[in-house]
Amino acid sequence: RKNLIHITTGSSALDELLGGGIETSSITEVFGEFRSGKTQLAHTLCVSAQLPKSTNGAEGRVAYIDTENCFRPERIVEIAERFELDPEEVLDNILVARAYTSEHQIELLVHIAAKMVEETFGLLIVDSATALFRVDYSGRGELSERQQKLNRFMSQLLKLSEQFNVAVFITNQVMSTPDGSAGMFVADPKKPVGGHVIAHASTTRIMLRKGRGEQRVAKIYDSPMLAENEATFEVSSGGVID
Ligand code: ADP
Repeated sequence: RKNLIHITTGSSALDELLGGGIETSSITEVFGEFRSGKTQLAHTLCVSAQLPKSTNGAEGRVAYIDTENCFRPERIVEIAERFELDPEEVLDNILVARAYTSEHQIELLVHIAAKMVEETFGLLIVDSATALFRVDYSGRGELSERQQKLNRFMSQLLKLSEQFNVAVFITNQVMSTPDGSAGMFVADPKKPVGGHVIAHASTTRIMLRKGRGEQRVAKIYDSPMLAENEATFEVSSGGVID
């Protein structure tokens, strides 16, 4: 029906885990603790999505919704050099939209859809998909409203991915739980934020954790399609590598 494309992550081990890379017309979620490599993976995909299809790109532009001011053009330049692409061109092909509130984050999808009508996009990144919703609906009794709004956002993302055959790549945090001592919380690396709303909308879920040094371990989480295997990769100045 559609020409589904797999976009390379930069690591052949991680690509293999994902059945070739991140897929268009679906949502791929990556979650993990602070510094587990979510944003580095997102930056690498910003570049690899622009590669020709013959070298596992999508030959398309990229939209990046940045909610925590994490987008780093200088990282894109380094990664573009690694893939032997012109850094200026690569940067020009990334539409960066900073979102300031969860409402704003939802509205941005309208503008991005308008751009996708005009030009070919291969990838839409939302880094982070959940952070602003957590901030805006942090009060007691606001959880159901938060989930409702998040659900609206996720449904629109899924619609965009299918309508324009783009890969949607979202980052997500993990929950903090009380660790037993008074008032102290620890991140639970196996508990993504967003509950069933995120679980339901994400086709592929990747759990990331830190390994030795710059090594990172990705594990398929809760997938009906893919085996729950692991892949080890590294974060380098050129982005994600084996
Ligand atoms: P997250 O988004 O999950 O919080 P990041 O994607 O920002 O995490 O990961 C940052 C980590 O990536 C750093 O702590 C470092 O270990 C690793 N890293 C390796 N090389 C670089 C680099 N050149 N620039 C930035 N981070 C790098």
